Amino acid sequence: MTSRASVSHVNLLIRGGYVLTMDSAGDIPGGDVHIKDGEIHAIGVKIDAPGAQVVAAEGKIVAPGLIDTHWHMWNTLLRGMSDGWPGGAGRAAGGYFVTCVGLGRHFLPADTYAGTRLACAEAIDAGITTVHDWAHNIRGIDYAQAGLAALRGSGLRARFSYGYETGHHNERLMALDDLTALASQWPARDGEGRVQLGMAWRGSGGSNPAMRVAPWLYREEIAAARELGLPVTVHACGPPSAAGQVAAYAADGLLGPDLQVVHMNNASPQEIALAAAHGTPVSVSPFTELQIGYGQPVTGELLAAGLPVGLSVDTTMLSGNADMFAIMKVTQACANARAHDEFALTARDVLRLATSEGARSLGLGDVTGSLAVGKRADVIVVSVDAPNIGVLTDPARLLVTAAQPSNVDTVIADGRVLKRNGTLTGYDVAELAASAREALARVLSRAG
Ligand SMILES: [Zn+2]
Repeated sequence: MTSRASVSHVNLLIRGGYVLTMDSAGDIPGGDVHIKDGEIHAIGVKIDAPGAQVVAAEGKIVAPGLIDTHWHMWNTLLRGMSDGWPGGAGRAAGGYFVTCVGLGRHFLPADTYAGTRLACAEAIDAGITTVHDWAHNIRGIDYAQAGLAALRGSGLRARFSYGYETGHHNERLMALDDLTALASQWPARDGEGRVQLGMAWRGSGGSNPAMRVAPWLYREEIAAARELGLPVTVHACGPPSAAGQVAAYAADGLLGPDLQVVHMNNASPQEIALAAAHGTPVSVSPFTELQIGYGQPVTGELLAAGLPVGLSVDTTMLSGNADMFAIMKVTQACANARAHDEFALTARDVLRLATSEGARSLGLGDVTGSLAVGKRADVIVVSVDAPNIGVLTDPARLLVTAAQPSNVDTVIADGRVLKRNGTLTGYDVAELAASAREALARVLSRAG
């Protein structure tokens, strides 16, 4: 269960690119970024960095690594399977949720590892340097350890949110003792400070009465996380039938900057205002929200209320892939469509959500999300030498509307080079895919 991603920190000079700092320095055409000891050492023009390895970025776009804020990485093993599987339940029986629960219960820790590892490799390939692994198939502590092993081996920056299991009994608490043990043993600098622990919370459960969790139970769960000082995340107000969840949490006094709320498509204006009043961050996952019928994302409304907003993959069972460029593009398109305004959400606005604002929404605003001296070195270099780009016009708009993962030339996370010249440095892709297929075959065979 090892990966080759542990490439040591380098002394690196990214030279001559169009640098989108997404910070107070603004854009630096023909700019250099000097990376040393895992952090951004200098940014400017014609930096002198003796002994540094040079990444020639002339004619390329240099930007902060992209930030995902909610992703069920384990079920990347079930990519494209929201309509079910041969011989099993699926579309007719309930689509994504039925399939996810039906197959999730047949996972073993090694399958969680294989799914999470495939997701990590996809993240890096797509220029994502921070992920929020929303682990909601923890069927025992070894499942958490397996997901964490994949994350630690990847080189990515991550929040690992320890959750429940698919199909968790509504009248049973999640495994709070295991979470407490994990938190108490958490190394001070896990993955050298890259991996943070959080809790994935069911909250009041799904909109389906069969998935409802009693208030005493969900209150006890969030209280336990807060006692441990862990950030919490919950799905809320996704489908129309889940409207009112945020209002209920507000009435219980549970909203706060440490509680990330996912979706909010069907939150009322009052609920958006309540979340804003409590500094509650929101994760928007446009592709999955559209695919599953939650309606359009309400990004513009959330931003207008002043909420910290990040973008997310959610699940590749529904979205198919983890293309954050496409996620940015559909976020902008939906916001402008809702507002009947070509200029409602600009390319810069949406790029900010996938970088600096996404980082801020995860509480990592001082660590990553923009290119500034002293921040950790999470940087991507995007080539325009491809049929789908070819010209270097407005770099922000190109990243949001034209770029694809195949254009990502170089990915650096925490000062380590995880993709170079378009190739992943830490994974043998043929072996990665073969082991994912083998794990899926095992899951399907157990499911019968
Ligand atoms: Zn989700």
